[in-house]
Amino acid sequence: MNKIRHVLGISGGKDSAALAIYLKNTYPTLEIEYYFADTGKELDETYEFINNLEVYLGQKILQLRAVKDSPVDPFDHFLARYGGYLPSKQARWCTRHLKLEPFEAFVGNDPTVSYVAIRGDEDREGYVSHKPNIQTIYPFRKNIWSEEVIDKVLNNDNLESLVEIYCQLANGKKRNMLLEVAKYPVSFDFDQDQKLRALLDLNVSLFNQVVFEFLKTTPYPLGAVADFPLLDNQDVLGREDVFRLLEESGVGKPKYYTELPLAINGQKGTYFRSRSGCYFCFFQQKIEWIWLYEQHLDLFEKAQEYEKSGYTWNEGERLEDLVKPERMQRIKEEYLTKTTRACNMKKSNKLLDILLDESELEGCVACFV
Ligand code: SF4
Repeated sequence: MNKIRHVLGISGGKDSAALAIYLKNTYPTLEIEYYFADTGKELDETYEFINNLEVYLGQKILQLRAVKDSPVDPFDHFLARYGGYLPSKQARWCTRHLKLEPFEAFVGNDPTVSYVAIRGDEDREGYVSHKPNIQTIYPFRKNIWSEEVIDKVLNNDNLESLVEIYCQLANGKKRNMLLEVAKYPVSFDFDQDQKLRALLDLNVSLFNQVVFEFLKTTPYPLGAVADFPLLDNQDVLGREDVFRLLEESGVGKPKYYTELPLAINGQKGTYFRSRSGCYFCFFQQKIEWIWLYEQHLDLFEKAQEYEKSGYTWNEGERLEDLVKPERMQRIKEEYLTKTTRACNMKKSNKLLDILLDESELEGCVACFV
């Protein structure tokens, strides 16, 4: 059996931490290497959270830095290379240089399984390396396989192999039904997603065994091993499960999630930061900039310093304008109105859920998950 590496990137967010806890508890025989790609611009709350996790895991979380021999931290190093051009949603050079490249260098050419904490209640894909020696697995989802693996397994060109493997492995009452579905070609009327869901609904473990068998005909890292414990995984974990895992393990939530009171013009509510990552991240919402201003003035001022180059973190608005009293008041009012309306519509007072729904729609898996 070939030796493959198992790695899990800790972002400083709740989901990757919960995945580390889950894998340690559920699959203790997996020898997982944990890493954190440090931009040099994280909040203290993030480092504290990672330290708590390290204690629980009883294992070092390796800190990766994109540059080692620079007098400045990785973000500032690359910013200088980009001539002061700040990253943005359209030009995310930061994620590539500070998160993805250190990860790929860490893995090198070793056959590697990378575990990513996209949850079962989310509809998005994580980062999939284009390096052929890295295979991504999503243990929190019903479908643990990456999109590109599913594209191959369910491609009509591979229909014959799929059916053959199902014929070999399927048994029991559902065998005929499974073979029917497996034989059915993907078409406009029965697309790949429908076929995937049908096969998973019929038997998740069997589907995983079939994919695992199929991988033996490919260069994917898992194609070269004798077994893989997650093949029998039936768990689907959502946001509540993530918070439960954090709570029960004693690791707790990252402190930036702590809800703080907010009152304006008689309206009352709470606010907090909804993501890990750099304190100046351009993905953050306006109310999170105000959180930074009110909770970490020193960091807010450092973020302002970067705008002296002429570029801004927010399109069309400088930070010095964002914290003018009348502008701050308007942002808070809008935020309270929006969150009150969302709570009423959802008939829920879980602000955390409402804000996380929003922030998870936008952002970067490598930085925030
Ligand atoms: S947290 Fe934001 S600013 Fe930092 S690397 Fe990620 S996307 Fe870029």
